[in-house]
Amino acid sequence: MRKKTIMTPRNRRWKELDTRLAGPKACNFTQKGFHCSHGSRRPFTRAILREMGGFDIAATLEFFTQCGGGCDCEVALNVARAWANGHRLQRAEGNPYEMAIVVGGYIGT
Ligand SMILES: [Zn+2]
Repeated sequence: MRKKTIMTPRNRRWKELDTRLAGPKACNFTQKGFHCSHGSRRPFTRAILREMGGFDIAATLEFFTQCGGGCDCEVALNVARAWANGHRLQRAEGNPYEMAIVVGGYIGT
């Protein structure tokens, strides 16, 4: 069985997630404001990833948390920047998500 993917800004479908999350059916960023529950369940992110299909949602949300994306608006606002600043997925055994994040040489789990 093919392993499900953890979504990162390097994924070819990142732009689809990013666009939909910022769009009218989700956070709907406008000059007047935006929608977000500011809750860690991240319902918009979860629903979009589920619709897109093929992603390990729990592991992806854990990765987003470690990139400062603790709620839907933070996923939209922080994850791509964290990636640009060097946050990376690494496979690590014994980790529930088989991953760790490398930040500036420091390996955190
Ligand atoms: Zn929020």
